[in-house]
Amino acid sequence: MDLDIQDIIIAIDGYSSTGKSSFAKLIAKELGFLYLDSGALYRGVTLLVLENGWYNGDRIDTDKLVPALNALDLHFEDHGKGVRTYMGARCIERQIRSMKVSALVSPVAAIPEVRRYVDRRLHELARNRRVVMDGRDIGTTVFPDAELKIFMTADKKVRAQRRMDELIAKGEPVEFQEILDNLEQRDYIDSHRVASPLRQAPDALVLDNTNMTFEQQMDWLEGILKARFAR
Ligand code: C5P
Repeated sequence: MDLDIQDIIIAIDGYSSTGKSSFAKLIAKELGFLYLDSGALYRGVTLLVLENGWYNGDRIDTDKLVPALNALDLHFEDHGKGVRTYMGARCIERQIRSMKVSALVSPVAAIPEVRRYVDRRLHELARNRRVVMDGRDIGTTVFPDAELKIFMTADKKVRAQRRMDELIAKGEPVEFQEILDNLEQRDYIDSHRVASPLRQAPDALVLDNTNMTFEQQMDWLEGILKARFAR
């Protein structure tokens, strides 16, 4: 598709496991956009906390974490097998998707200094590019001027089932109830925190994909892009 705009940003926000990243990756592939996964950066910071023992089961040691953010190099690389998250030279894609990280990521993402760090990294990585980004506050806080904002939702049980299928495919056995609990917990923390909570931007288009295939979602998007931006 021929778009008549140079550096368009597509911001996709929504609850956990609504398929935001799968959809964003598909858009990147089909339309040649750069894909930035903001959740992966929060997960990377969470891994740093866990590996350094800065979480004692009760509180996160922000006195240690905050100064360490200055030297933290989280970025994405693609060596032909899709985009992977890196901490310096180390690929951390697998580690950041574990249940251990999922269980702690929302409290870590509620720390204002962590949000500022991720915000800054996203701006650096997106500079002068056509980008599709997914997260919780991309269209509201990180890129409030994004040319296209999408807010994704889906039925909670369908979301939990999708997440379970993903983890099982990766060989991480989990209980359905554990996943559902984790989703509900993250939804709650994400939408109730003080620092840029998850909300739908007033100018976002809602996409409920409970009963939609990827192809149908892509058709929906292409219709919008054609109407708004195509030459
Ligand atoms: O998207 P994903 O589920 O990988 O994100 C992990 C967590 O990171 C979310 O549950 C949320 O707490 C946090 N997050 C956020 N703001 C974003 C993206 C993710 O707070 N823009």
